[in-house]
Amino acid sequence: MTDRDNRHRQAMQRLKTHVDQRIASASEQRGQLLVFTGNGKGKTTAAWGTVTRALGYGFGVGVVQFIKGKWECGERQRLVEDPRLDVAIMSTGFTWETQNREADTQACQEVWQAAQRMLADSNVYLVVLDEITYMLKFGYLAIEDVMHALAERPAEQTVIVTGRNAHRQLLDAADTISEMQEVRHAFNAGLEARRGIDY
Ligand code: ATP
Ligand code: MG
Repeated sequence: MTDRDNRHRQAMQRLKTHVDQRIASASEQRGQLLVFTGNGKGKTTAAWGTVTRALGYGFGVGVVQFIKGKWECGERQRLVEDPRLDVAIMSTGFTWETQNREADTQACQEVWQAAQRMLADSNVYLVVLDEITYMLKFGYLAIEDVMHALAERPAEQTVIVTGRNAHRQLLDAADTISEMQEVRHAFNAGLEARRGIDY
C-alpha cells in the first residue's frame, strides 16, 4: 500500500467514526418543519420530490398550492392519480398579474381551510404549503394562524413550506431550512420556462 493509500484509509476511518457518532446521537423520531426558501430555482421541485418520496412508502400526503398558477404542473398531473395524495389549489384570486386584495384574501382563506384540515389529520404524514410565504407577506393570511395550526398539528406530521422571504417566525420554528441561492437562472438570458422542467 502506498503512502497516499494509507493516509486515505486513515482519513476515511476517522470520518466513519465521526459519522457513526453523529448517527448514533440523532435518535429522535418526529414530524418536522422544513422551509425551502431563497431566490434560486428548486423550492417547489424539492417539495414535490419529497411528496414522491413519502407516497413511495404509502403515506398520506396533502399539497396546498397558494398561487393560482397560469402554469400547469407536470408533477401534480402525474401524482394526483395516487389516492393517498390530496391536492388543494387556490382556484381564483392571487396571481402575479392581478392584485385585488379582497378577492385574493377570500381565495387564500378558502384554500387555507383545506390546509387546516390536512394539518389536523393524523393520517396525513406530509403537508406541503407551496408558496405560502407570499400569502403572509401580502397579509392575506395571518402568521399567528399559521403558527397555531403548525404547533397543534399531529406530532408525526411533517410540513414543508416553500417560497421566497420566509417569515422570521417560520424560520425560528423550522427544523430544516434550505435556501436556494440563485447563482444563475436561464430566464435572465432570455430562455423561456420549459414544459416538464420548470412546470
Ligand atoms: P421550481 O418550481 O422550478 O422548483 P421555485 O419553486 O424555486 O422553482 P418559484 O419562485 O416558485 O421558484 O418560481 C416559479 C417559477 O419561476 C418556476 O417555473 C421556476 O422554474 C421559475 N423560477 C424559479 N426561480 C427563478 C429565478 N431565479 N428566475 C426566474 N425564474 C425562476
Ligand atoms: Mg415555487
